[in-house]
Amino acid sequence: MSIPAKDRKRWDELVTQINEARSRYYQSDRPTLADEEYDSLYRELVELENRHPELASGESPTQTVGGERSEMFEPVEHLERMYSLDNVFDDGELDAWFDRVVKGIGSLPPMLCELKIDGLAVDAVYVNGVLTSLATRGDGRVGEDVTANADHIPAIPRTLSGHSIPELVEVRGEIFFTLDDFTTINAEQLESGLPSFANPRNAAAGTLRQRVDKRLTELREADKAGARRAESLRGDVDRALRRLSLLRLTVHGIGATRGLTISRQSDGYTELAALGLPVSDRMDVRDSIEGVRDYISHYGEHRHDVEHEIDGVVVKVNEIALQRQLGETSRAPRWAIAYKYPPEVVRTRLLDIEVNVGRTGRVTPFAVMEPVRVAGSTVSMATLHNAFEVERKGVLIGDMVFLRKAGDVIPEVLGPVVEVRTGNERAFRMPTTCPSCGTKLAPEKEGDKDIRCPNARTCPAQLQERLFHVASRGALDIEGLGYKAAQALLSCGVVTDVGDLFLITEEDLRTCDFFTRDPGKGESGRPLTENAKGMLGQLDVARARPLWRVLVALSIRHVGPTAAQALAREFGSLEAIADADVDRLAEVEGVGAVIAEAVREWFDVEWHREIVEKWRAGGVRMADDAVDAGEQPLAGLTVVITGSVPGYTRESAAEAVAALGGKVAGSVSSKTSVLVAGESAGSKLDKAENLGVPIVRAEAFATLLSDGLEAALEASSD
Ligand code: NAD
Repeated sequence: MSIPAKDRKRWDELVTQINEARSRYYQSDRPTLADEEYDSLYRELVELENRHPELASGESPTQTVGGERSEMFEPVEHLERMYSLDNVFDDGELDAWFDRVVKGIGSLPPMLCELKIDGLAVDAVYVNGVLTSLATRGDGRVGEDVTANADHIPAIPRTLSGHSIPELVEVRGEIFFTLDDFTTINAEQLESGLPSFANPRNAAAGTLRQRVDKRLTELREADKAGARRAESLRGDVDRALRRLSLLRLTVHGIGATRGLTISRQSDGYTELAALGLPVSDRMDVRDSIEGVRDYISHYGEHRHDVEHEIDGVVVKVNEIALQRQLGETSRAPRWAIAYKYPPEVVRTRLLDIEVNVGRTGRVTPFAVMEPVRVAGSTVSMATLHNAFEVERKGVLIGDMVFLRKAGDVIPEVLGPVVEVRTGNERAFRMPTTCPSCGTKLAPEKEGDKDIRCPNARTCPAQLQERLFHVASRGALDIEGLGYKAAQALLSCGVVTDVGDLFLITEEDLRTCDFFTRDPGKGESGRPLTENAKGMLGQLDVARARPLWRVLVALSIRHVGPTAAQALAREFGSLEAIADADVDRLAEVEGVGAVIAEAVREWFDVEWHREIVEKWRAGGVRMADDAVDAGEQPLAGLTVVITGSVPGYTRESAAEAVAALGGKVAGSVSSKTSVLVAGESAGSKLDKAENLGVPIVRAEAFATLLSDGLEAALEASSD
């Protein structure tokens, strides 16, 4: 059957795109596609070739191990071939692989499960216990010689240790950076005006694939000649050596051996560890499909508790004899499969950079992007912090950018894909006047990276943010007063500042379309919506809230729930706080000089005091009675929070605990009174279980705050 022209054309296109992506990924260590995009092109190619097997010729990327050698390095022929891995993306595809294994060997054998480290593969050869060669994977037969770099990588043993050193051992492993080191390295890249690495894998590859030996020779010559460039060369070489020293190795494969016989891969790792080679202690042998699935889902949840990036789990037939029976294709073993987790780095278009004016006047640029799905949610915005950060990242409006969102971490623009610029991109200019009120922007103090709108009193953007903040969960918690309602109150002129909030009447709300609806049968005029009525009711509830919440609601710089609670406990009334001098305020435990100064400054501003008076007139309770001040349902408890708590950020959850007298700690120990475990709770949950620390589910967090530990534990056991 002949191949339709459109399929052949698509095949050509896919092969070209995949080969180009491979060359950028493996040779330049600077990918222009996100892995997910590459994987989807690759899958399309596989599907096309499944329909037309004639297309799956030797030149197709589906038949080769990606990663041609760069001319920069000497070639090294591996003693045994290195392979890539076939991927599966869900349980159905995993089951299909299990079926193929069972078909090949008759029954399901024990499976070795390992983390799929997102690094780059190397091949290391030890002859009589001495490292004789270190090479990249290359095309699987011939790799690039990077042996000279091994001298600078303490994680790679130069000699093997132990009692019986085999004559020959060829091992395969992953070279990678820990996430902490990656963060440091990327910050350093940006600081030096160099492009950031898209991910730890590329950073590791870029670091290993350098001719540091050549640069050291150059440096020595420049030094001898007293050349001026010696200085900058030294900087470069120092950086390269420092980074090489941070590279890690985990061995995950065994090639040629003499004097070492291994019958199971897991035993092989034990033997290699005895020789001083780094192997992972997270691998595990599972006897059933269920067991393999558990391992995959466990690390799916605990992905971010691992110190390095993982992009999946590798499942391998453990018995070497069975591995041989199943064999390999030209690209990948049939006895192993990579189960890939959903991507956390995607590519999207930076449509614009806008600025936001916060409630304290800080002006923050943020990225507006083509909406993109990543780590379980759709992202279209990400903060860029300040103009310096925009410049550091080197992004232009119109750029394709890599965007990263890991778990419940806020999304971050990593940097531009410079290679695909069209010339139509433009640089972002930080405004010099406030986009909301036109006031000239300025840093608060010389040297501050942030700039602010000094028109704190009447700038509409600041007003709206402050109004919204009054209603937030951490402050007076007024349901029904969301962002849109705050906007409507201001635009209809129902309030002119936050002081007016508690003076609002039904009549006032009736003047604003947002709060009214069309009349029904028998109704006259425009009745208030249910939401508007609810908001008025909630304002009543807010009037009676404790003093610390009132303090938070006032938007005094640096005063969050913890400081507010301390002040309320000490002084008992807003009046007493307003009358206290800086020294008196600073004496309060948990307050300190910076907060004391901010509180004093705030109360010294006349229009701030007017707000307080208006709230007083509006019936807001400005003092705690003795019982309230002493009510500390979480006093004496040490609380650890892990995973995500619905409705709270990590910070606001901690603040809420602190506000009720609890102490928040970062790690679980025998002193921990309770662990609050949210979705994707990690190793802390395991530790708490081991230590017998009581665990409250995130859904019962509200109960913990309102009714204390006993009630929360009861709610958790439902
Ligand atoms: P792979 O990375 O999907 O899998 C094979 C590799 O996994 C092995 O070579 C080994 O280095 C590594 N590995 C990590 N932990 C392992 C373990 N415990 N046991 C065995 N091996 C382990 O395959 P590949 O051929 O190296 O690369 C293909 C992948 O690379 C694609 O799926 C894509 O994610 C990425 N890629 C991206 C681009 C791009 O443009 N973004 C281009 C090419 C490739």
